[in-house]
Amino acid sequence: MTAQPHRITVIPGDGVGPEVVRSAQRIIAAAGVAVDWEEAEAGAEVFKRGDTSGVPRDTRASIERTRVVLKGPLETPVGFGEKSANVTLRKLFETYANVRPARELPGVPTRYAGEGVDMIIVRENIEDLYAGIEHMQTQDVAQCLKIITRKGSEKIIRYAFELARSQGRAKVTCATKANIMKLTEGLFKRTFEELSAEYPEITAEHLIIDNVAHQMAKNPAQFDVVVTTNLNGDIISDLASGLVGGLGFAPSGNYGDDVAIFEAVHGSAPKYAGKDVINPTALILSSLMMLRHVGEAAAAATIEDAVLVTLEEGKAVTQDLARQTGGDIEHAASTTGFTDSIIANLGKRPATVPKRAGAGAPAVAATPRPRWSYGADVSASVAHATVGVDLFLESWVEAGEAGRALEALAGDALTLQMISSRGTMVYPETGLKPDSVGLLRARFVAREAAADVSDAEIAALVLRVGERFAWTHVEKLHVFAGEDGYTKAQGQ
Ligand code: NAD
Repeated sequence: MTAQPHRITVIPGDGVGPEVVRSAQRIIAAAGVAVDWEEAEAGAEVFKRGDTSGVPRDTRASIERTRVVLKGPLETPVGFGEKSANVTLRKLFETYANVRPARELPGVPTRYAGEGVDMIIVRENIEDLYAGIEHMQTQDVAQCLKIITRKGSEKIIRYAFELARSQGRAKVTCATKANIMKLTEGLFKRTFEELSAEYPEITAEHLIIDNVAHQMAKNPAQFDVVVTTNLNGDIISDLASGLVGGLGFAPSGNYGDDVAIFEAVHGSAPKYAGKDVINPTALILSSLMMLRHVGEAAAAATIEDAVLVTLEEGKAVTQDLARQTGGDIEHAASTTGFTDSIIANLGKRPATVPKRAGAGAPAVAATPRPRWSYGADVSASVAHATVGVDLFLESWVEAGEAGRALEALAGDALTLQMISSRGTMVYPETGLKPDSVGLLRARFVAREAAADVSDAEIAALVLRVGERFAWTHVEKLHVFAGEDGYTKAQGQ
């Protein structure tokens, strides 16, 4: 029993949330961990009261005090534009590391039973296409900015290596699409390769994300820790959950420098709300990540053993698992009954699951990168030049005609280098004939090789071109320390 109770914010959430959260709370109490729970609200009821964030001020204040949250699922209102309260919570507290373990469990049938699947997906949780910066360029052309930063990449990659180290895991796989997105996904890959040198005892490998999907379906036991960007991680963490029993068994933790939020991967399953039939395992496993985070590794190991024993025995099985095992659904265990069985099994060791080295290890504290690698002083010390500009133009004009007109508008300092449509060069002609979509990109570069192009020259160009074409956005072309900060068009 801890001397000082842990103060933890608990958000019961929507639908089946209160039932699964209550189950975890009962088990934690039965294991002798003293917690002073601060109950807080978020989700559907809050939206209904007109709070468009879904996370009231009192809840935010509680999280700022306790810095640890156990959270049930929150419904995202459909049809009236509000952002998800889950995403709001993650962004409010900058919980940049989404950690999703996927481990084979006894008594839970899967296609890979017996292969020893035991991996952790570490997903970057803030950046990438999830920054939510979208614009309609024309009424028919939508654009979403994919933001990958050096700082964001370092934080999550270091987190993954520290996690591997603390749990005695041997390998970290970095999964990207750097072969196609050489600057965004490429930055993540390069940062991984650089930081891996600081962890010589851990095998570091890079795989292209589509190959990761393929390998996970073929031989998932080869994966240990996998670190990846936000969208990739969203998809492969669900894939990984599916390998080991699905939503009822998938826990997660969202870790930031100050706050950590623990929740099941599943949603509010509204059709089962209040029926006492839902499987609470995912939330219980999430609460074990929480206990390790607050320094209760021994209690977490005891509860984990009791969960494994209960699943191993297969006597108390909730409906969803009974359905999978071909068991008796009529007499399946209730949420409460399943919880009672786990409590009764506290203190027992599972017979079929070997103890994992480092399994009781505390979760990693967030580890900010040493100052020298990014920040204002570092940027200021890197030589950079503006060597041209990409102008995006709403235009259905045929490429040759547009090219001749834009060449005439280029001016004295700049020259038209090329025009592309959806990334494929259409002027000068290459023989490639991409379909026109009404949006062209015209690339202008300095007439004199490597000359720095001034803002005044760019502004004057935009005004000149704007008299003839409707421009939609402007991107400067930079060179940083001799490296191009932009990609070439297909065919260029
Ligand atoms: P869901 O996860 O609630 O349900 C998907 C399916 O899985 C349903 O058939 C459900 O009954 C079943 N299921 C879910 N959890 C289970 C469990 N513990 N045991 C047994 N079966 C389980 O997903 P959904 O229906 O797409 O979403 C419902 C609501 O939850 C939506 O409003 C959605 O926005 C929200 N949601 C919230 C979170 C979160 O809070 N992190 C995550 C996903 C969805």
